[in-house]
Formats: sequence, C-alpha cells, structure tokens
Amino acid sequence: MSTGFVELHCHSTASDGTFTPTQVVELAKRSGLSALALTDHDTVAGVGEAASAAGSLGLDFIPGIEISAEYPSPGTMHILGYGVDPENPKLKRLTEELIAGRDNRNPRIVAKLNEMGVAVTMKEWEDEAKGSVLGRPHLAAILHRKGYVSSIKQAFDKYIGQGAPAYFDKERLTPRQAIERIRESGGLPVLAHPIQLRTTNDGELERVIKDLLDLGLVGLEVIHSDHDAGLVEKYTQLANLVGLIKTGGSDFHGSNKKDIELGLARGRRVPREFYDLLIEKHEELSSARAGRT
Ligand code: AMP
Ligand code: ZN
Ligand code: FE
Ligand code: FE
Repeated sequence: MSTGFVELHCHSTASDGTFTPTQVVELAKRSGLSALALTDHDTVAGVGEAASAAGSLGLDFIPGIEISAEYPSPGTMHILGYGVDPENPKLKRLTEELIAGRDNRNPRIVAKLNEMGVAVTMKEWEDEAKGSVLGRPHLAAILHRKGYVSSIKQAFDKYIGQGAPAYFDKERLTPRQAIERIRESGGLPVLAHPIQLRTTNDGELERVIKDLLDLGLVGLEVIHSDHDAGLVEKYTQLANLVGLIKTGGSDFHGSNKKDIELGLARGRRVPREFYDLLIEKHEELSSARAGRT
C-alpha cells in the first residue's frame, strides 16, 4: 500500500473555488500530495481538465462532486460522490437539475439585496462566476469588492448566509435521492463534514448516519477543516463501528476561503490509505454493478 498524503475534498473555478482545475492539481503536486479528488458543487465540469493535468504530473486522481441534500435547519447535509462517471447520462441529468435549482434561487437573493439597498445584478454575479456554477462565494466576493462588507465571511453573516436577510434556500434532493442518484451515476456517496449536520448529541448523530447507511451511504468524511482532533476521533470511531469507509479533505476554495490550504485540514493531513480504500471500494461496487447487468 502506498504512503504519503492526499486531498479528497476541494473546489475549483468550475464551482466556487478561485483556482482552475489545472492550478489545483499543480498546487497538489507542489504540496507533495500523491492523489487528489476534485469535488465541485453540482458539477463535474472541472474533472476532465483536472484528470489530464494529474496524468501529466503523475498524480493519482478520482473525479468527484458535492451536492447538498434536504436537512432541517440550522444543519446542512452535503453528500460527496466519488468516482462518478462524467459520461454517464444520469449524472448529466442530475447536474442539470441541480443547476436549475440554483437558477431559481439566485435572482431572489439579488432582488432581496437590491431591496436592502445593495447594488448588485445577476449579470455581475454571472460575470464573476465566468461560466461556472454560480455560488454564493462569488456574490460575496462582489459585495466585498464593492465595499459593502469587509470580508467574504461578513457578506455571509450580514447578507447571504443562513439566517441572514437575503438567504434563500435552493430546492434540494432528499438524502435518499442524493445517495441513489450518485450511485446510479457510478459514484460512491460519502457524507461530507458531519459537524455541519449540527446534531445535538451522539445518539442523534448515530441515528442520522445509520439511516444514511441504510439508504446506501458508503463513507464518512472524518477529516475536514471544520473538525478538531476530538471530532476526527469521534467520527473515525463511528465510521469503524458502522462499517463506513473514511475520507478526508480540506474543502479548499482558494481565496474564497483564505484560511484553508490544500491538503491541510486544521493542520491535519489526509493519509494515502483513505484514497486507496476509496478506490478499492469503488472497484468493488463497479464490478458488482457490472455483474448484475
Ligand atoms: P451555494 O452553493 O451557492 O449555496 O454556496 C455555498 C458555498 O458558500 C459553500 O462553499 C460554503 O462553504 C459557502 N458558505 C456558506 N455559508 C458560509 C459562511 N457563513 N461563510 C463563508 N462561506 C460560507
Ligand atoms: Zn463551495
Ligand atoms: Fe460542503
Ligand atoms: Fe465543499
């Protein structure tokens, strides 16, 4: 089994990161990582470019996606899909629907901001996103540049984050749909940053995760920039207990999340073993699927 460190959760300019897929791969190489997964929100538009950059630099690569599922406020549930097949028509349909959900939400955010006296337009948001999936961090960057806020974080706190006046939810898949659709697109569903579920006790956390397991969840993101050492330990034990594979990543977004470095989640690195077991599990499920057809 290989040694070294990997990055299994990061965003590029295909969604709301500020590094192009090639730049993310180059940075991974410079940082001494041996494998990478690109997990943009609602799109796999960056994975082709990342895969070829990784190929030229001798870095192992697996395509990914991150989608958000319905979950009671104030929690959020994000599901990562690893090894989805970019050519799969079901994946294409899925990403189109996810983007349509954003297209319904985004003008409402802008209208509310205008009502609040913030001068911003959909056109500016689209220009900021440069043809990629429109994310709130793009909008936050505009508000920052125009001087309405002093940081990206303040844009969320004051205007567009959960609980703020110009926050609007987008239509989401249920957890069942998210897991099923990732699996039928050839991917492995993994629960991202379980801390963000904001469960209030360990019993509740365990119930949520066991329910997801019954729906076909395969892994748990135990290492993440929002997880301190105690949480990493807790999620590791839970994954081991219920038989989920463990994954980890920083959730790098380039300068849209300035304090996060690629490959480092609160100073913690992600062991290569996580990548190897992810690949092993992916091959296992792919051959089981092939055997059935
Ligand atoms: P969207 O997918 O357009 O709803 O935007 C989600 C993105 O906004 C993710 O990258 C989140 O990490 C980021 N985000 C959500 N809430 C906050 C917050 N309070 N501060 C900074 N970034 C946030
Ligand atoms: Zn993001
Ligand atoms: Fe997330
Ligand atoms: Fe993310």
